[in-house]
Amino acid sequence: MNIILLGPPGAGKGTQAQRLVVEQGMTQLSTGDMLRAARTSGTEMGKQVAAVMDRGDLVTDEIVIGLIAEQLDHDNSGGFIFDGFPRTLKQADALAELLEAKGQSLDSVIEMSVDDDALVARITGRYTCGNCGAVYHDTTKKPAVENTCDECDSKDKFKRRADDNEESLRTRLMAYYKDTSPLIGYYYAKKKLKRVDGLGEIEDVAGAIKMALNL
Ligand code: ADP
Ligand code: ADP
Ligand code: ZN
Repeated sequence: MNIILLGPPGAGKGTQAQRLVVEQGMTQLSTGDMLRAARTSGTEMGKQVAAVMDRGDLVTDEIVIGLIAEQLDHDNSGGFIFDGFPRTLKQADALAELLEAKGQSLDSVIEMSVDDDALVARITGRYTCGNCGAVYHDTTKKPAVENTCDECDSKDKFKRRADDNEESLRTRLMAYYKDTSPLIGYYYAKKKLKRVDGLGEIEDVAGAIKMALNL
């Protein structure tokens, strides 16, 4: 089963994708994570996208489509979760073509809806484990032991993203409404869209996603 988690920045896509990886053995493909990895390793592409990402604008379709295309060659027995991709209609068409070329298809698109006020609170409180990528929050998802990752036990490895500030978030939200939200209609027309209320507790959202996917 291949699915897309679609929603604005801070909707909980990464959090829910990580759960599906653990519970269902799926593979998470996050273009945001891939782009951040390119920055950290200092590749030419990483340097090229750094300022764009920090501002909160979208990087070019060519770059992210290229990143996804590379990943689709890997084993897909558990199914892919596309997290933060596609973000434009061009990316959505490219994904359909790439999957078709592999004899695969897209099963469902989960739209996670969360209102803007809640998104600000989520984004400004977000931090992640620098070792394993587990996602935390200052108030809604603290690790059991202070400064220690629940998932991998790393100590003092938490970090915050350069673009998780209110100004960049405003740009990212605008990009979402302008370029990404048309995908809701696109996938509705293809009868793939399933809407989930993303405002509830992490557990409840996870339950709603499972129900939407008949898991
Ligand atoms: P969020 O968790 O806020 O939804 P991501 O980690 O998915 O953000 O993405 C961070 C940044 O990386 C985006 O603001 C954008 O600059 C870039 N990016 C990630 N995925 C894409 C994509 N599919 N298309 C264009 N830009 C992307
Ligand atoms: P996205 O990948 O859509 O940008 P994340 O999964 O990174 O979103 O979540 C953004 C922030 O909100 C993180 O700090 C995460 O711990 C927190 N969060 C995620 N889901 C919920 C939820 N249902 N309720 C409260 N906080 C949440
Ligand atoms: Zn960790």
